[in-house]
Amino acid sequence: MAAARHRHERWLHTRISEDLEDALKREARRQRSPVSLVVRNVLESALDMVEDIVEDSLHIARRSRRFARHVERAASGRPETLDDIYGWQELILNRAASCAKCATALAGGARAYRGLRDEPGPPVFLCAGCVRRLRHPSTQKEEGA
Ligand SMILES: [Zn+2]
Repeated sequence: MAAARHRHERWLHTRISEDLEDALKREARRQRSPVSLVVRNVLESALDMVEDIVEDSLHIARRSRRFARHVERAASGRPETLDDIYGWQELILNRAASCAKCATALAGGARAYRGLRDEPGPPVFLCAGCVRRLRHPSTQKEEGA
């Protein structure tokens, strides 16, 4: 029985324009297929396309979130750039920290230099060596060190 063979299939009635009907009939003639099959194929391929677009959008959204986290981490953690710091103030550390430039560990009791900036933010420290390099940039040309 046909009804048993196609028990997962449903009828879908919908109103379409005359132009759309003509286009579907033309396509059916071109494919030498029944109009109903053409309609089904068009709908299925359209849904596949939507799924692909949704998948791509999710992929882009995930990448955007990853990028935002990366930016956030860069902003909150050790800053890549110390451009907004207008000066370095010498102090004796009470808590352990690390140099923002060379990542040297700075123990409590050690001499360090705190970055002063216009905008509030997490404290940034430099070790004595990096401050020395700031004072005499010409004597030691160590890129990224
Ligand atoms: Zn340093």
